Amino acid sequence: MTEWQLRLSAYDRQVHAFDSGQREDFWEALCSHTVPANFMAECPEKQPSCLPCLIKIGELVATRQEGRRAEIAADVREQLSAFDGDKTFGQ
Ligand SMILES: [Zn+2]
Repeated sequence: MTEWQLRLSAYDRQVHAFDSGQREDFWEALCSHTVPANFMAECPEKQPSCLPCLIKIGELVATRQEGRRAEIAADVREQLSAFDGDKTFGQ
């Protein structure tokens, strides 16, 4: 599962979301903003956030939740079908 970290870009003084797995000289944010690794700082408080990055994070979280819901529904269906196969039920 990909995790994200919020970092301040010295280019536009905004906080962007970066894939925490990136180990390149240039990092690319979810919004496609790229920053040399040494032009980023830890995320300080009270800095403006990049709206496209926030929207993308929201979409990713929603997609993950949908995927998890689908997994749970498939598990329940599987368990129910195994249960239906048990002819002792209701007899
Ligand atoms: Zn961004």
